[in-house]
Amino acid sequence: MPEIRANWPKLVPQGSEFFSRAEAVFSLWDTGFVLVDWSEKLMKRQDFDSQTAVRLSDVYPALAHPPSADLVRLVIDTHKPQTIRLSTSTGERYDLLLLPASGGLAVIEISADGPSETSAQEAERALLRHQATHDVLTGLPNRRQFSDELARLLPTGNRGAMALMQIDLDDFKPVNDTLGHGAGDIVLKLAANRIKSVLGTYETAFRLAGDEFAVLQVYHEQPGEAERLADALVAEFKKPFFVDGIAVFVGASIGVAIAPRDGNEGEQLMKAADVALYAAKKEGRRCARTFHPSMLHVLEQRELLRRSLRVALAHGEFFLEYQPIVDRSRSVTGFEALLRWRHPILGVIPPIAFIPMAEADGLMSDIGQWVLEEACRAALSWPDHYTVAVNLSPAEFLTAGFTDRVSQTLDIVGFPAERLELEITETVLLERTINNLDTLNTLNVLGIQISLDDFGTEYSSLSYLKNFPFDNIKIDKYFINDLLDDAKSQTIVRSVISLSHGLGMCVTAEGVETAEQAAWLLSEGCDRLQGYFLSPPMHVDRIGQFAGHRKGRGAIGNAASNNAAADGARMAVGQGGAG
Ligand code: C2E
Ligand code: CA
Ligand code: CA
Repeated sequence: MPEIRANWPKLVPQGSEFFSRAEAVFSLWDTGFVLVDWSEKLMKRQDFDSQTAVRLSDVYPALAHPPSADLVRLVIDTHKPQTIRLSTSTGERYDLLLLPASGGLAVIEISADGPSETSAQEAERALLRHQATHDVLTGLPNRRQFSDELARLLPTGNRGAMALMQIDLDDFKPVNDTLGHGAGDIVLKLAANRIKSVLGTYETAFRLAGDEFAVLQVYHEQPGEAERLADALVAEFKKPFFVDGIAVFVGASIGVAIAPRDGNEGEQLMKAADVALYAAKKEGRRCARTFHPSMLHVLEQRELLRRSLRVALAHGEFFLEYQPIVDRSRSVTGFEALLRWRHPILGVIPPIAFIPMAEADGLMSDIGQWVLEEACRAALSWPDHYTVAVNLSPAEFLTAGFTDRVSQTLDIVGFPAERLELEITETVLLERTINNLDTLNTLNVLGIQISLDDFGTEYSSLSYLKNFPFDNIKIDKYFINDLLDDAKSQTIVRSVISLSHGLGMCVTAEGVETAEQAAWLLSEGCDRLQGYFLSPPMHVDRIGQFAGHRKGRGAIGNAASNNAAADGARMAVGQGGAG
């Protein structure tokens, strides 16, 4: 049981004000309650015969019977520490602190010979200490303990090497969001156990936060040993987790940093592991990467971008392009506003490249507000039956007072709510379900149209369709792409159309690139179309021309033959793709 022995310093931190190894009557038991480690003091008292296994009931007979035995089970099952007061056969009272240990149970006997008052206090303090340094859910040592251990284990002088592994679960959030937090908790516990199961003597796991874990490994052969372990961890996460019989796939991405090579201060090492983790995520996730200085270059560029993103709004570097949407008679019903960033050096950057960063940095709420106002102002000058669709990011939608801001904006600009369409993705809805419904209902009451964007790409839960008052479902371009030669896509699109209609919602297909796709969709009853076949997103100045151009044409004319629009459109694509 060397794994358990290695946890000794974590359970009773060396030099702890409460127990030192020499003073405490301490014992460590595996899950079969066989003694695997003990302090001198216990050994002196018990007089073990090293040849035969010592059982918990040999040392603490009371723990073999209820109700004490139940308490022991509770510690093992819940990973939560417990204290229990017992008396010896001669009537002396003592307290036992029962602590969950990786792979078993730790027992600390407190002041068996001291006054019971102090003993209770000590037990209390020790309990608090354990609670403060361990994660309740997984029983792993927590971030606080991690920081202490990291500082303690950093190599000094010529003493060895240490690896820090940052583990981040892939696709954990959707589990939480779709199967519920209970399922999420189960996966986290199973994940913690899985991590522990591959660790050896000089390796300790911690839970840092949410779905972030860390492992510290003290071995000389670095980075070889760390890479071996990281690969083993990644492999371990390729197997599914079972939650109530449902197979859930949650992978692990790992960033490895080695001390002293990559830094010999906690913070520096964390940063290096972070950079490596970022590289692992970038390279497709479910893999491990070891820090290399060249990774910093990528990060520096990202930092540069991030910094310029912070001032982009103030510097007026954002602009919108508009993509037309047509109905079944191919008349324009409105435009979707799409955000672009004209970077002073890098040129035009597409939203995919900066919106996630803006979201992560908390900038998306302000940017979104700008988009809304800008789009409404622009649409004010359009024919008054045209709508404008604005995309919402989760951060905006979840901002307190979001609906007030929307209605204020409409007031200030003087734009009718009926002409505004807000596009939200399922990710938005996953965040905070009860209030989401309120927010959507408020928008609905204001008269704003609501579209469910990118339908089918995320965790399409049909319950949203039942519970939320959508006006429109947008089928993602992923299904439109191969529509004509993939029978499955056809089936899915057909079903979404009939599902939406059955629920009284309108359907828009996005990413329609050819006249053939358009014809197929219309023949299947799709209500609205959007895509390059009609026009890519265009500059606001071209809208008047585009609308005017289409006006003279028969309503059922083939939009694909509209060369002027298509040419202009291609120009716009070239522009949008720069950077
Ligand atoms: P989206 O909402 O799904 O927007 C449609 C995307 O598909 C746009 O990409 C559009 O240019 C592209 N597209 C349109 N027709 C076609 C086609 O026929 N073929 C192909 N292959 N693509 C087509 P874009 O402008 O790069 O925007 C990407 C995403 O960025 C948007 O996806 C949306 O999720 C997000 N986004 C854009 N503007 C905003 C915004 O103002 N706020 C927020 N929160 N997100 C935005
Ligand atoms: Ca959209
Ligand atoms: Ca979309």
